Amino acid sequence: MLTEPPLLKMNNVSKLYRSHSETVAAIDSANLTINRGERWAVLGPSGSGKSTLLSILGLLDQPDKGHYFFDGDDVSRLDGDTRAFIRNRHIGFVFQSFNLLPRLSSLDNVALPLLYRGISRAEAHELARQQLERIGLGDRLDFRPASLSGGQCQRVAIARALVGQPDLILADEPTGNLDSANAEDIFDLLMSLNVEHKVTLIIVTHDDALAQRMDLQLQVKDGRVA
Ligand code: ADP
Ligand code: MG
Repeated sequence: MLTEPPLLKMNNVSKLYRSHSETVAAIDSANLTINRGERWAVLGPSGSGKSTLLSILGLLDQPDKGHYFFDGDDVSRLDGDTRAFIRNRHIGFVFQSFNLLPRLSSLDNVALPLLYRGISRAEAHELARQQLERIGLGDRLDFRPASLSGGQCQRVAIARALVGQPDLILADEPTGNLDSANAEDIFDLLMSLNVEHKVTLIIVTHDDALAQRMDLQLQVKDGRVA
């Protein structure tokens, strides 16, 4: 029988930051295995290494030591272009501050990852429109981020993360800038994506109640992952 590899695996991964006098291990010898379809919460105090961990998991950054396997392939030492290629096809990101492009409409923000992929403008817009409609923003296609509420901006960002049908969504404090009602809605939306699309979900959150709704919890403390 064929067994598929874990979606993500870290073997003794460390990320070091050097200043003039000292070297800080933002991530210190991390070992973890994350399988397809799992839902993980990442918890830990400020400065403990959560965002650094997500950057490595999302191939935005590289480990200084150890090995990171994405879908069975060692991606620890790939060049930037190859990492960008994998990100564009397999990973969606959601950030606390939304990271939408202010001059672009919702539709153009969501279409952008597809254009990078070489999909035609017409098809990218059609897929982006469908995604925004599914997420309840079909009547906001032409709006720029400044004309949207925080909750709506985060829905656009989620549509952008999802439009390429990723295997993995990484969300770094996605509800950090939202009031509690909007935070609940965004969390429900992320959970439903996991159920409906089997997308693997890793969410950094300070909210213990939200974290408890995930299947698995990862604690990060002083760069140590447990
Ligand atoms: P968290 O997301 O848990 O708040 P971070 O991953 O952002 O933590 O940071 C972990 C540690 O790494 C902190 O001590 C932080 O100051 C340090 N750090 C993060 N990014 C950099 C960087 N680009 N240069 C130097 N130090 C950094
Ligand atoms: Mg952080």
